[in-house]
Amino acid sequence: MKIQAQIAMVLSLDKCIGCHTCSVTCKNVWTSRKGMEYVWFNNVETKPGPGYPVEWENQERYKGGWTMRKKRLELLQGSNMSILSSIFANPHMPEIKDYYEPYTFDFSKLTGTKRFRTAPSARPYSLITGKRMEKIEYGPNWEDNLGGKFEERKKDPNLKELDTKGYEEFEKSFMFYVPRLCEHCLNPACAASCPSGAIYKREEDGIVLINQDKCRGWRECVSACPYKKVYFNWERKKSEKCTFCYPLIENGKPTVCSESCVGRIRYIGVLFYDADSIKEYAATENDRQLYEKQLELILDPNDPAVVKLAGEQGISYQVIKAAQDSPVYKMMKRWKVAFPLHPEYRTMPMVWYIPPMSPVLQQKEVTEDFFGAVNDMRIPVDYLAKMMTAGDEEPIRKALAKLLAMRQYMREVTVEKNENPSIEAALGLDRSDYEAMYRYLAIANYKDRFVIPTAPTHSEDADFANLRAGLGYDYPGKTDEGRNLFGGR
Ligand code: SF4
Ligand code: SF4
Repeated sequence: MKIQAQIAMVLSLDKCIGCHTCSVTCKNVWTSRKGMEYVWFNNVETKPGPGYPVEWENQERYKGGWTMRKKRLELLQGSNMSILSSIFANPHMPEIKDYYEPYTFDFSKLTGTKRFRTAPSARPYSLITGKRMEKIEYGPNWEDNLGGKFEERKKDPNLKELDTKGYEEFEKSFMFYVPRLCEHCLNPACAASCPSGAIYKREEDGIVLINQDKCRGWRECVSACPYKKVYFNWERKKSEKCTFCYPLIENGKPTVCSESCVGRIRYIGVLFYDADSIKEYAATENDRQLYEKQLELILDPNDPAVVKLAGEQGISYQVIKAAQDSPVYKMMKRWKVAFPLHPEYRTMPMVWYIPPMSPVLQQKEVTEDFFGAVNDMRIPVDYLAKMMTAGDEEPIRKALAKLLAMRQYMREVTVEKNENPSIEAALGLDRSDYEAMYRYLAIANYKDRFVIPTAPTHSEDADFANLRAGLGYDYPGKTDEGRNLFGGR
């Protein structure tokens, strides 16, 4: 078993208010440059809707991600030979109109126009051609707050095969925001498709980066990424993508989008996974088992055998400690309330989502029968399952029931002052789980949301003296039985 550390993110969609602060701060830091005007490393889109770029989830159109062909895992784009044969004309490449033509407004008209009877207006003009635009036709969050006709929103591939009858009526429609960024996948299709070998996954934290010196601008990564999170810089003629703000991560600080998140919806932490099993798990035949398989890949950082092996394989004490305190591990694996986006793409994404709660449509107080209440929620479970578990509704139903049960538990404790609040045994959580879930999800203190080790340096290696001497781990400098880090008294 080869243990690797991965820095991962969980976003609680229940709390996203669609304010776009994350997108704007990210843009200011990373993509406010020529050639990148249309690029949003982080964008927030409204679901249901075709998203940004349009219909990014339609892999019949873009051929992103992996598939099983003759029992073998292969890029949906095809073999290396077919990728090479299409590098000069790739029919699956999104075009600028699929994102949107970037524009700004002629603001000088507002301040510089002479006084007139009608108010001056600032017309849009293209940031690519510099010409005035008659019509703005698309954008990174075009369906904002149920904007536009249902016929347009219906192009969302997650609605395919679902019974959408009634959703076009305002009273029965539903919506929620999905902030999206590069998933820093364990099995990145972008890296596998690059003819120049320019994309790599960092060994120490799993961040996926593009070596700008090596990139030749073939753009195969743009179509191979099923999340459409690699972008082509038309000025520099190179591909660029989210860097997970690695200079900040290396210093133990959260990404810009997470730091600035108004809703405190983002959590960052370390995961351990078994790198030797990726290929086998990604090649699981049944799409619906991929979520479970991805969970299996994630190792328990409190398991003494995992800790021992991680130490032997050179993972620093500080990283092990961070993995043990990781908020994302708790949400993904301990409580199972977070899910990957489209596990059926088989890239094994590392940005997961807690599904949004929504009002229970029937007028009733939810104090028990949490599963029944989940069925009555405004956002349909089958839609969420299409996004997060390849259509398997059971894990989503359970997660939403847990979130409802946690709310009920905390209501009993804090409002009703009940010293023996009811615990829903069927959900497999105990009192300490409910209280921790409440602390992480509702209170969401900074130190709970972000548990990020600084870049491993050799100084941390001293802590392994503890490990080798079999003295256990807790925190740097901890000594058992009065021993120091090196096993002496
Ligand atoms: S989400 Fe990121 S790491 Fe995954 S395939 Fe796309 S660009 Fe690569
Ligand atoms: S800053 Fe946070 S709350 Fe606002 S849109 Fe972004 S993820 Fe959602």
